[in-house]
Amino acid sequence: MCHHESVDCVFELRQPPNQSYELTMKTNFFASSAALKTASFLLLLSVPAWAGESVQSPDSIATEDGALKILPINHATLVLQWKDRTICVDPVGGAKAFQGLPLPDLILLTDIHGDHLSKETLTELAGPGTKLVGPPAVAEQLTADLRNRATVLANGQTGEQLGIKIEAVPAYNLTAERLKFHTKGRGNGYVLTLGGKRIYLSGDTEDIPEMLALKNIDVAFLCMNLPYTMTVEQAARAVRAFKPRVVYPYHYRGSDLNKFKELVGTDAGVEVRLRDWYPKTPGR
Ligand SMILES: [Zn+2]
Repeated sequence: MCHHESVDCVFELRQPPNQSYELTMKTNFFASSAALKTASFLLLLSVPAWAGESVQSPDSIATEDGALKILPINHATLVLQWKDRTICVDPVGGAKAFQGLPLPDLILLTDIHGDHLSKETLTELAGPGTKLVGPPAVAEQLTADLRNRATVLANGQTGEQLGIKIEAVPAYNLTAERLKFHTKGRGNGYVLTLGGKRIYLSGDTEDIPEMLALKNIDVAFLCMNLPYTMTVEQAARAVRAFKPRVVYPYHYRGSDLNKFKELVGTDAGVEVRLRDWYPKTPGR
């Protein structure tokens, strides 16, 4: 299931500074002449094996203590790597969704729904040293073995794992017709502090006052989708209020991310990073 040797390859794959331009150039190149087909074939042969695996090249954020790598997996699921530590957020989709990555040292769980909590995936992924963090409602659903390794944090509580400070923050719906999805107090968002950087994972929420009051967030992962969480308009307003340095929309199925980016604008000093959380290749 896990191949430590291949993860280095994954992380050496640097995203080109202007990927869409490069892709366009390649398309034109391939289309330009049938006589170049042989050359194209040779080029394809030279593509390393891992390039066929739809593993996205991770983004890298510099911290005071090594780089933080960000790897989108699917919908609400992502992997963070910092120093030699691998942190999975809401792992679902089975161990195959994490092929090529080390076993997680830490698993953060935000809520009880199937797009955040998969007992099967947790059982497959959690190695003997894996720690878990989740709210009480999630802990109740874990097997005894996993629960024994879980730190239970309710909204407002703080813990520490692997030298990472973990603050559980609220995540809930505000709009009348959406209240049934995420009751206040059940789910957690998280603020992680690692290497002097503060990373916010929203969980499933709307633009709640506790989010707007966040301070000094370096990187925010923000949900936006209807009917479950919030509109891109709400998300953009929130971002303009708490001003993370970088924001990644995630958990955004069906949302207009270009609209989100436009609404955030450039004057608030927030960098919007759009990444693909819904890759077409099955298994990732
Ligand atoms: Zn969700």
